[in-house]
Amino acid sequence: MTTTITPLIAGNWKMNGAMASLSELQALAVLLTTGEAPRAMVVVCPPATMLAAASAQGALSGILTGGQDCHWEAHGAHTGDISAGMLADAGAQYVIVGHSERRADHHETDDMVRAKVEAAIGAGLKPIICVGETEDERDSGKAENVVAAQLAGSVPEAGGQHEIIIAYEPVWAIGTGRTPTYDEIATMHNGIRHILTNRFGERGATIRILYGGSVKPINAREILDINDVNGALVGGASLLANDFYTIISAV
Ligand code: PGA
Repeated sequence: MTTTITPLIAGNWKMNGAMASLSELQALAVLLTTGEAPRAMVVVCPPATMLAAASAQGALSGILTGGQDCHWEAHGAHTGDISAGMLADAGAQYVIVGHSERRADHHETDDMVRAKVEAAIGAGLKPIICVGETEDERDSGKAENVVAAQLAGSVPEAGGQHEIIIAYEPVWAIGTGRTPTYDEIATMHNGIRHILTNRFGERGATIRILYGGSVKPINAREILDINDVNGALVGGASLLANDFYTIISAV
């Protein structure tokens, strides 16, 4: 791991939990405040309905919050959508954009993701921009090209002046219990780092690159030790305070 970047561990609760699950956040807060001080920044991205409550609760223990998506416009006739400004209003500092589940379920293109990133930056949020190849793309040797194209299309020029975070999440590793080999993760993160420094110069060297996809207590330490892995985006294992705390402690 690059030592000059403070790692970030983000939990993506997806469409799981209810207000009652905030008790897990409370349990996590207890673990974080009574145990050894975490060496990572901790972000939890609950469903939007819980964001304000989670932000208020997290603020007491240094847990930051994020949204799981935002619209690319600031307001308007978009039934069911939520703007970046509204997430900020609910206490979020981060927002996940371009998650593969949004790209697949809601047909989000790189252009849409880039517009969302711009909206997030405009609202003062730090976007966590997700990229990653499908299993077919990896099997046919296209993983690096696919990720390079997603980065070119999804990361706006503003990414050179504002804090952004990249999350490399191979689609086939999400929720499956399978991960790439540590060498494959290292190769991809190194490639992403090169793309970022080529495009943004020195600033590109400071952008966090998270790994996501079946990060669990059992593999967190090895993954987080890989060069240019600056943290993790954790789905399933972020739902239970003990598991998430073990991953945070693996930094
Ligand atoms: P997972 O999900 O940790 O459950 O694989 C990761 C993600 O989708 O962000």
